[in-house]
Amino acid sequence: MTRLTDPTTINSFETQAAESERSDAAPSCASCGDKLDAEERGNPYRDEGGDPICDRCHCDKYEGQCDRCGEIVEKKELDMHPGEILAFWEEVDGLEPGYYRVLRWPIYMDGMIEGYVLKDNLEYFAPLDEKGQHAADNAWTPGGRMCRACREEISQTKEGCRNE
Ligand SMILES: [Zn+2]
Ligand SMILES: [Zn+2]
Repeated sequence: MTRLTDPTTINSFETQAAESERSDAAPSCASCGDKLDAEERGNPYRDEGGDPICDRCHCDKYEGQCDRCGEIVEKKELDMHPGEILAFWEEVDGLEPGYYRVLRWPIYMDGMIEGYVLKDNLEYFAPLDEKGQHAADNAWTPGGRMCRACREEISQTKEGCRNE
């Protein structure tokens, strides 16, 4: 709870209200309702309906982070199609860490108590490479989707059969 008894708090609320009345072009985020800050008001992201949304909501909705290289990319780039590669950073249901090709969806089912991986829908592709090891050390999920660049890098390494 914000304490309204403090006169300085009340004053700052009034100042904010006055400011947003003056520039009411895009006063608040259409998604979360938060006030857009000055930078966001200048050139806001917009949702499908064309309403302004804040940077954070835009990020939540449309952007995702590649687990392997940490790049922020459009969420649709992280969408997995059959034939593409994802990573398991740690052992999952007896599958060793590594890169796996998705043969078909789904690859995961929610069970009564905990979920389980549908192993028949995955094909082992390659062990984690150096970048993958690094990502695994920092991962906070057991597995992850990767950006297009990472997926291509991994497929090429395998197909080139480089022995280093
Ligand atoms: Zn928002
Ligand atoms: Zn990546």
